Amino acid sequence: MTGTPAQDAYAPSDEFVAAANAGPELAEAAEADRLAFWGEQAARLHWHEPWTEVLDWTGAPVARWFVGGKLNVAYNCVDRHVIDGHGDQVAIHWEGEPGDSLDLTYSELLAEVSKAANYFTEIGLTAGDRVAIYMPMIPEAIVSMLACARLGLTHSVVFAGFSPTALRQRVDDAEARLVITTDGQWRRGKSAPLKEAVDEALYANGDVPHSVEHVLVVRRTGVEVPWTEDRDVWWHETVANASPEHEAQPFDAEQPLFILYTSGTTGKPKGIVHTSGGYLTQTSYTHHYVFDHKPGKDVYWCTADIGWVTGHSYIVYGPLSNRVTQVVYEGTPNSPDEHRHWNIVEKYGVSIYYTAPTLVRTFMKWGRQIPQAHDLSSIRLLGSVGEPINPEAWRWYREVIGGNKAPIVDTWWQTETGAIMISPLPGVTATKPGAAMGTLPGISAKIVDENGNDVTLGEKEANGYLVLDQPWPSMLRGIWGDPERYKATYWERYAEQGWYFAGDGARYDEDGALWVLGRVDDVMNISGHRISTAEVESALVGHHSVAEAAVVGANDETTGQGIVAFVILKGSAENTGDALIDELKAEVSRSISPIAKPREIHIVPELPKTRSGKIMRRLLRDVAEGRELGDTSTLVDPKVFEDIKSR
Ligand code: ATP
Ligand code: MG
Repeated sequence: MTGTPAQDAYAPSDEFVAAANAGPELAEAAEADRLAFWGEQAARLHWHEPWTEVLDWTGAPVARWFVGGKLNVAYNCVDRHVIDGHGDQVAIHWEGEPGDSLDLTYSELLAEVSKAANYFTEIGLTAGDRVAIYMPMIPEAIVSMLACARLGLTHSVVFAGFSPTALRQRVDDAEARLVITTDGQWRRGKSAPLKEAVDEALYANGDVPHSVEHVLVVRRTGVEVPWTEDRDVWWHETVANASPEHEAQPFDAEQPLFILYTSGTTGKPKGIVHTSGGYLTQTSYTHHYVFDHKPGKDVYWCTADIGWVTGHSYIVYGPLSNRVTQVVYEGTPNSPDEHRHWNIVEKYGVSIYYTAPTLVRTFMKWGRQIPQAHDLSSIRLLGSVGEPINPEAWRWYREVIGGNKAPIVDTWWQTETGAIMISPLPGVTATKPGAAMGTLPGISAKIVDENGNDVTLGEKEANGYLVLDQPWPSMLRGIWGDPERYKATYWERYAEQGWYFAGDGARYDEDGALWVLGRVDDVMNISGHRISTAEVESALVGHHSVAEAAVVGANDETTGQGIVAFVILKGSAENTGDALIDELKAEVSRSISPIAKPREIHIVPELPKTRSGKIMRRLLRDVAEGRELGDTSTLVDPKVFEDIKSR
């Protein structure tokens, strides 16, 4: 059951098409010979030694890409641009939350990364060792990641908003020898302690032994910190004094680059492992074509945190490999006020802006008068990632932020896929609001039923499972320390066919456009009809009073599941209680079908979100079914439930 109304597609302008990085020939080349195509993409990078084979899939489901090839990831992201004569180009326009800022050129970045690499070597770290990075969005965080990459160390970035318990879990799982952190971090004008959280993590559980030998601390807010002699060192007393000369050594294409724990929307975090050559190839390729990035001309801004995969692939590795000039912003979008992002866009002339639907909906809630008070004419391309974007939010984004002309790329991918898999190509695809449209050249996906049969194009009832039926260069190589869980989670469901099960539902519309419907656990069964939470949420957000909506299927004696909706109203909306609720129910009924009409609608002040900004439907289902709440450790603010339950 899908109720997406027929809608126009937005084709890119002739002007955009004429200058676009990607044309139709890209897909033609990929179709002609997929592996040769990936070989060509890998040639975007500098290889110290060439590979002998593009893909070795004999050890499936663990792939080896660019077999025998040797490269250095940091050399590709930094040194090579300096050697090519672009040392004076700004790599990072860094914008601190309190209003301080810093421009870092590629030459300066090279010096910083080299110093960190020299210091890491001095304290005895060698290729293969793990390093935990628990830092806010400051240049040293990116420098640390690149210094690890330079030495073949495997970094594990832990989002600095996570608790000491979450940090400890991740440090222990990866057996990190070094933790890099800051004294404190700025949050809405206040300094929140961070080093203290590291100490709490490392002394947790009555100080059971752990792997950490060193804690390296960057001074950021000046807050006082607890200190352990012999273990703790200041960055400004160590790294800052190290030599800025360092020669990058080549590593095997399959050298582990990082471990990143998924946010845990669906349970215990998994340490997703990514390696070097294939990962950098696909992040570089996608950043170049999906964002139509022009080095030396564009000013790019991805608003993610480096604690998420989006920060890894589309702040650090993809963009820097393509010689980006990018904005990195430390703070929240409303520090000191709701104009912050648009002030930054104006200040640096941002031309490519990549964010998440949750933020677009927040901007909508704050009102269009805020972005409209700014000159956003530099923006020529917009991106979205993290959740399905509601058509209403998509249109608002295009009109208010994109000046009715910037193409929107709705990019579907996962921590596990490492890089974008499904997305429009901005100079090629005519986009539909809310659709991720289709696979990128070189990527192959299918939408299938339980038994692996293709679902029928355009069939109204045909919501299916999204699977990836061919290996791709930036695919995960496993779950850290748990090969069995890797197989069970992703490869067991379609073991016979050898397909990767993404855990998301999707469908093709009449025109063959691909719509991602969110995770399969979020597809409801109402009297035998499969309805996705995303569709009902989009219908609710389509009402002029609603800013955000979360929908879950709760057990229902008559219909199997009944739809329970939680909505947040816009700042400007009037809460007329039952009258409004009836209106909203009628809206869903009209725009999808009477079957999709919510059984209950609750107007709430906030929705429970993970720290990466996604709605935690699993917990709302617990509320709707009157159960004890499950694990809330990755929630931003567990207190929202008191408000929700009290209604
Ligand atoms: P966990 O796996 O721990 O539950 P997570 O899946 O939220 O957490 P990520 O890897 O960051 O962690 O997110 C990937 C998921 O986000 C996808 O599987 C999909 O459900 C959703 N997603 C990402 N981009 C899009 C998009 N453009 N459209 C629809 N859904 C998207
Ligand atoms: Mg996931």
